[in-house]
Amino acid sequence: MDEWVDFSAVKGAVSLEVVLRHYQVPGLRRRRDQLEGCCPIHRGERDDSFRASLSKNVFHCFACQAHGNVLDLVAAMEKCSIREAACRLQQWFGIAVSSAPARPEPWGAGKPELVRENKGCNPPLHFALTGVDHAHPYLQQRGIDRATAAEFGMGFYGEPGLMSGRIVIPIRNPSSEIVAYAGRALDGRSPKYKLPAGFRKAWELFNIQRAAATSSQTVIVVEGYFDCVRVHQAGFPFVVALMGSSLSASQERVLAERFERVFLMLDGDAAGRAASRVISTRLSEKCSVALVNVPEGAAGSAVAHGHPRFDPRGDTRKSNRQRRIADLQRAGLICS
Ligand SMILES: [Zn+2]
Repeated sequence: MDEWVDFSAVKGAVSLEVVLRHYQVPGLRRRRDQLEGCCPIHRGERDDSFRASLSKNVFHCFACQAHGNVLDLVAAMEKCSIREAACRLQQWFGIAVSSAPARPEPWGAGKPELVRENKGCNPPLHFALTGVDHAHPYLQQRGIDRATAAEFGMGFYGEPGLMSGRIVIPIRNPSSEIVAYAGRALDGRSPKYKLPAGFRKAWELFNIQRAAATSSQTVIVVEGYFDCVRVHQAGFPFVVALMGSSLSASQERVLAERFERVFLMLDGDAAGRAASRVISTRLSEKCSVALVNVPEGAAGSAVAHGHPRFDPRGDTRKSNRQRRIADLQRAGLICS
């Protein structure tokens, strides 16, 4: 599973200025088509040693002699190969990968990237978006209060960039590192959810870091980000989202390894019900699975509202777990 990287597309798509801003290089001054400042690579004192030509998209440091294009800059900053630098830029800035070759290219496959790919994980981002508005009315419309939005780091992003004008939702790995932002369109534009190119959502479970931190043996599985956040807000922190209605092999492995019991709470539409059947069959070979009875046409999170809370830690003890399941059965939330 080698990742296809188009070096020239990356160089053409990302300007040095954007990358320097990404690294928050302080004190850069603009002079005609040049940026001048402290060198972010050797971090010297002189504030005029580093020059970047915006028209040529190249840089040069007169002190440490570092020079090159955006890929060279990122490789120097990240201490990685050119190939890995290109992968990161593709991911950070969501550069579309137009076509993949039939077989992996023979040149310079960056080792660190390959190791990650073999393990099936997305590399963490080296930045977090700032200026995210947690109080945007769209979040209210979706039933998410400001405190919860802030806790999840989600909100409206108005700055220029890949996610501009969208509701951004950070996706974290089990170690709580941000691996991508999903951007929800507000004006019906396509795609409804934008993800960076190269990011594999099949390798992640949204909110797994919180669900795992509860040490709950039970996990609630929903389809979407907003469902997940609403279920959390309703008092059930041991919830994850598939980010769709299919279960990847990697997601299946994580669920089976970390949890004893899965409450499947996919949407109440035909797709959700069909997916529930397939997923419960697969998971039931590895752990205990219960289907939550979601009303026709409703999102999974609808049933979490108004349900009495229970101690999320309690389910490590069998009696509490049984009591909870009985609770859910009485409330008509479980159909099997
Ligand atoms: Zn330098």
